[in-house]
Amino acid sequence: MKYFIGNWKMFGIPKSINILNKINSFSSRDKNRNRYRVIITPPYTLLESFSKNFKNKRIIIGSQNCYQKDKFSSNTAAISSYMIKKTGAKYTLIGHSDNRLEGDTDTILKDKVKLALENNLKVVFCIGENKLQKKKKQTFSVLKKQLKKVLEKKLNKNNIIVAYEPIWSIGTGKIPNQKDLSKTVYFIKHILKNIFKKKSPEVLYGGSVDENNVKMFKQIKEIDGFLIGGASKSSKKFIDIIKNYYR
Ligand code: PEP
Repeated sequence: MKYFIGNWKMFGIPKSINILNKINSFSSRDKNRNRYRVIITPPYTLLESFSKNFKNKRIIIGSQNCYQKDKFSSNTAAISSYMIKKTGAKYTLIGHSDNRLEGDTDTILKDKVKLALENNLKVVFCIGENKLQKKKKQTFSVLKKQLKKVLEKKLNKNNIIVAYEPIWSIGTGKIPNQKDLSKTVYFIKHILKNIFKKKSPEVLYGGSVDENNVKMFKQIKEIDGFLIGGASKSSKKFIDIIKNYYR
């Protein structure tokens, strides 16, 4: 199963549902539809209405983040996994570099992952090195630390997917070369196999994926799908990514 996950970030109002209606109708007719899953993470404000609208349809709704405390607490503007689950959303991203930059430490992320899983959300855990770390050839050590500090054997491994998103690639149009990316995804899978004792952990790639470069990514068999930011705000681009992937 491949994943095409659209991360809308701070984008979307109620009428933006039109974008998803187009993706949904494409995907319901697509001959390849049983080979992939479409997940969209709109802002919190749209989780409930979108989840209701796409219940039992081709698009699964997820959240972009969740809070590190459970159920209800006195934290202004915070949204817990419990609250997200009650909107009907099925997934949550955790550890996106935007949120790491805003203060999400490994300790906070560990709480978020634990609570999301306890509330029966599937977790897309994001990791990735920055430009300087890449330059200093620290990519593997950074990724290993990000994984080992947060993920552990006792977690429900079947509900965790990892998204490798090099920070220098997000929103920049720059993408890793095929050889480096292939090695990195292989490395991440190796670490995950060690943590979870799981045969085939799922690892996605995210960072400037578009309808043109998706063919290159397809060559890398280890990649189980994509986390797509900018291009997910256009139904045409998002659909073309799926089409070109299977062409
Ligand atoms: C992202 O923010 O998760 C992302 C992958 O963005 P983009 O596709 O725009 O690089």
